[in-house]
Amino acid sequence: MSGDLTIVGLGPGPEDWVTPAASQAVADADVLLGYTPYLERLIPKPGQIFEASDNREEMVRSARALALARDGQRVVLVSGGDPGVFAMAAAVFETIEANPDSARGIGVRVEPGVTAMLAAAARIGAPLGHDFCAISLSDNLKPWATIEARLRLAAEADFVLALYNPASKARPEQIGEAFRILSAVRSPKTTVIFARAVGRKDESIEITTLEAAPLALCDMRTLVIVGSSATRTVTCGDGRTWVYTPRSVRVE
Ligand code: SAH
Repeated sequence: MSGDLTIVGLGPGPEDWVTPAASQAVADADVLLGYTPYLERLIPKPGQIFEASDNREEMVRSARALALARDGQRVVLVSGGDPGVFAMAAAVFETIEANPDSARGIGVRVEPGVTAMLAAAARIGAPLGHDFCAISLSDNLKPWATIEARLRLAAEADFVLALYNPASKARPEQIGEAFRILSAVRSPKTTVIFARAVGRKDESIEITTLEAAPLALCDMRTLVIVGSSATRTVTCGDGRTWVYTPRSVRVE
């Protein structure tokens, strides 16, 4: 008998940002697989098996999850945020495309989660209120030249940009490169948000500008939002300043 595979998004951190459908899938699983810090957010039920692995082993983990499902297990593969945003769901479908037999007879399902850019945006207002795009700055899986071209074209098109994977220990300098590319096109006063560890105990949110952004604060737990030319701040009655991008585009 074949089992099934559900690829589940656990959101950026807090339990109450996990959808009831995702929690149900986790509760119903026989085996759960994922990157260690994501599995550590869950408490195993009696009889459940947890298989943690390194972040870079996405294809191995996908193949393992499919094999367990073919064996008749109810398998859950967990991702932080949304599983379809720079995460495991695409890795599973790539694995199936490369080896269609790996998913023979298995039911596959994707349960969405709150992705980091939505959680970060909600903390500071509505910076994604108009057209935006999301770009990962990691060149583990694509050439840096592609990232540069996408950054330049997105800046020229005046999109709000959500930058995932802006820096890591192995790539501390790429966020600086990215900001140089954006600064060649965008005003130095463009609003920039550094949202670090959103939803965690050590969350920090910095509202800054392209010219003043403290790049050294950026790490692999940071989501960067770069505003469009229309992104602005507004101060509410309680004195708090919010960032938003208006819903209409004015032609000057
Ligand atoms: N699937 C995830 C993204 C995985 S890529 C999602 O949908 O959110 C990993 C990147 O996501 C990190 O480098 C960081 O840029 C961002 N990220 C994930 N969780 C975050 C959090 N709690 N706060 C800020 N950024 C986060």
